[in-house]
Amino acid sequence: MTASTALRLDGISRGFGDVAALAGVSLTVQSGELLAILGPSGCGKTTLLNVIAGHLRPDAGRIAIGDRVVADDGVWVAPQDRRVAMVFQDYALFPHLTVAENVAFALPRSQRKTGDARSRELLALLDVEDLADRRPTELSGGQQQRVALARALAQDPELVLLDEPFSSLDQGTRDEVRTELIGRLRQTGLTCIFVTHDQEEALSIADRVAVMHEGRILQVDAPEVLYRKPFCSEVANFLGRANVLDGIGRGETVDTPLGSYALLSQASGPVRVYVRPELVGVAGDETGDVVVEARDFRGHDVLYTLRLPDGSVAIAHRPSVNMVEVGQRVRIEPQPGHAALVPVAWSDRAAAAR
Ligand code: ATP
Repeated sequence: MTASTALRLDGISRGFGDVAALAGVSLTVQSGELLAILGPSGCGKTTLLNVIAGHLRPDAGRIAIGDRVVADDGVWVAPQDRRVAMVFQDYALFPHLTVAENVAFALPRSQRKTGDARSRELLALLDVEDLADRRPTELSGGQQQRVALARALAQDPELVLLDEPFSSLDQGTRDEVRTELIGRLRQTGLTCIFVTHDQEEALSIADRVAVMHEGRILQVDAPEVLYRKPFCSEVANFLGRANVLDGIGRGETVDTPLGSYALLSQASGPVRVYVRPELVGVAGDETGDVVVEARDFRGHDVLYTLRLPDGSVAIAHRPSVNMVEVGQRVRIEPQPGHAALVPVAWSDRAAAAR
């Protein structure tokens, strides 16, 4: 293990009866990294956090935090001795304690004497210092989130785990709170792993994203790599909508019913490709053979559903300027960017390997 490795999981499995919640998860997280674990409901995200925190024992596998093995055959380090702090979805603040007391309660024994100053320092870091004397019931969701984070940091952790940290916040404030809190978390230089089922959230804030599916990690990569070069179709499908088109590869480009696009990897002859909707430009044209079937206006952008001459449907994602109307004829104007060859499904790959 290198000095900069904060967490290493090797072959972690954990079942509940017949359900394999984790089926051989291996993952390495670097110090200071912000890693998102992304996947649909029930894929094992929370179980993975609980296993890392020590709230659940794995059935098999090895966990090392920094250079210390905390779970392995015959090794078990209790949660309170792992220097891992977990922030739960419902924040789990103590209702009968004030904000400052909630934070002070989490301080290591050695810091209890100077606890008040340290608590206030952490509350200031999260910009909720002026709420120190309130109780959790007197706080908004976003404020509770900050206090929960301050309490996690009070534990002086090496690793911070966040389970769906922003899901309880309303849509209006979520983006703002998220950007600010992630910024403050980054200031600490701590290693953070957060779980989400929201692909936009994972792509927008994480350094790397691990995509989970049925108890396995299918791919771990930087957001742009995951989005542009998914390893398998499950990852591609989970990371947003795309037009799946039959085309003809011509080396570095591909001809499709939505025009010609650069290809990420070379191909010749018949191929199936993904063309993300933001690559599909549309321009009003009376002689065009594509018709706008629906328009989903979203404020700063718009999603068009297009009917192609062969009767199939495609989607285009455009800024909401120079909009075209439903029923209007348009021509497709491919935008700069790459189409990607549709990868093999992970399930097919796994079946072939058996
Ligand atoms: P969500 O996004 O809905 O929270 P998740 O990806 O976090 O889901 P987990 O909560 O880790 O998924 O659950 C993974 C699988 O293990 C699911 O099939 C779930 O029903 C099962 N499971 C989790 N905890 C338990 C438990 N204590 N007892 C029985 N089955 C469990």
